[in-house]
Amino acid sequence: MVAASSSNGQSLEGRTLYIPRMTYTGARTFAAAFRSIGIDATLSPDSDERTLELGGMFTSGDECYPQKVTVGDFMKIIQSGDFQPEKTAFFMPTANGPCRFGQYAPYLRRLLDDMGHPEAMVCSPSAANGYEGVGEHAGELMRTAWRALVAADIIRKKLLQTRPYEINKGETDRVFEECLDLLCAVIEVQGIDQEQRLERMVETLAECRKKFNAIPIKYDSERPLIGVVGEIFCRLNRFSNDDLVRVIEEQGGEAWMADISEWVWYTNWGQTQGLIRRGKRFSREMLRVWLKNLFQKKDEHSLLEPFHEDFLGYEEPKDIKTVLNHSKPYLPPEGVLGEMVLNVGKTIYLYHKGADGVVDISPFTCMNGITSEAIYPTVSRDHEGLPIKIFYFDGTQTDLERDVGIFLELTKTYRRRKSNKRVLSPALVGH
Ligand code: SF4
Repeated sequence: MVAASSSNGQSLEGRTLYIPRMTYTGARTFAAAFRSIGIDATLSPDSDERTLELGGMFTSGDECYPQKVTVGDFMKIIQSGDFQPEKTAFFMPTANGPCRFGQYAPYLRRLLDDMGHPEAMVCSPSAANGYEGVGEHAGELMRTAWRALVAADIIRKKLLQTRPYEINKGETDRVFEECLDLLCAVIEVQGIDQEQRLERMVETLAECRKKFNAIPIKYDSERPLIGVVGEIFCRLNRFSNDDLVRVIEEQGGEAWMADISEWVWYTNWGQTQGLIRRGKRFSREMLRVWLKNLFQKKDEHSLLEPFHEDFLGYEEPKDIKTVLNHSKPYLPPEGVLGEMVLNVGKTIYLYHKGADGVVDISPFTCMNGITSEAIYPTVSRDHEGLPIKIFYFDGTQTDLERDVGIFLELTKTYRRRKSNKRVLSPALVGH
């Protein structure tokens, strides 16, 4: 189905597209979205010690940790015996942001060229490059990919809501994998229209909900609820953060992870602000962004419908402006760009939802983490002493269990005196 070639003459046709596991869940459903338009997409290999070894060899040390991890995983593919550059593409999005992320794709391109693999493709589809390599199917892919990411956010939320309370260890992970397989099978179907696909996805999610809610659990109201914010890759990539969420669960907490969709809402908001600044408040471009936002909201609403009751007390902000308004007194979003704005704003949102503490996951040397860390003591002081802790990661070992254990003790003290009580989900207390 894919015929279009990119601006530099490369096409995805006949190639395998490798997608980094920014989140395992999101990468799986995202790859399925690519397959729905006939692109052979799969995940980049799971990260391990070799990832860091190769990532270290092919970066200078000045790059961000997520770049080291993604480069390391791509190098494992390149160094595998059956690498065929003309049949390979690496997915690496790009952005004109305030941080080093914009360098990831050009760096990878240069690396491949220097290694003598100019035929290997770096796929960074965006509006600016006419959705390079995706061509005529861009609109269809963007819509399916958005739904795929929202569905991934939803089943991750069910996983994190259920797993801490499971009676039979490992059952929630098993159901989660089963649901992910079911979802990918629906997302990757080719040749159906958008309405049909949405209907099938909603039906599948409703089936997944039943499976999750059939898991025997023993709810413990004393378990602290810990918000998890931070740099998007390091927060969502389990290898990069030493599976911090699981450590929180093993140490007696429950995690509420900030979704991927939050970043999409934020970039949509950023686009409208950019147009307003350029005097294009009433323009064709503004209409396009407005419509995109509208359809994305509509899709999100449909996909979330089966979970309305389960997510009582776990609702995400209705509008990204809620998060940005929370951030405003500390980091005004009109002047400060990047994830630090979301992290500070979401921390305060989670405070209002009754979270018992918030952890921020950040790559070592990331300016988002460094800035947020400087703001958090004031945020905590202004919000009843909400415990907030930043965890930095760079692939070196730390005593995570000990640090999380100490933090959870602080959250237990806080929960005794906090004024924002949680709304408890019937999916948990109804068992
Ligand atoms: S947010 Fe931080 S870690 Fe992520 S790309 Fe930007 S500078 Fe690097």
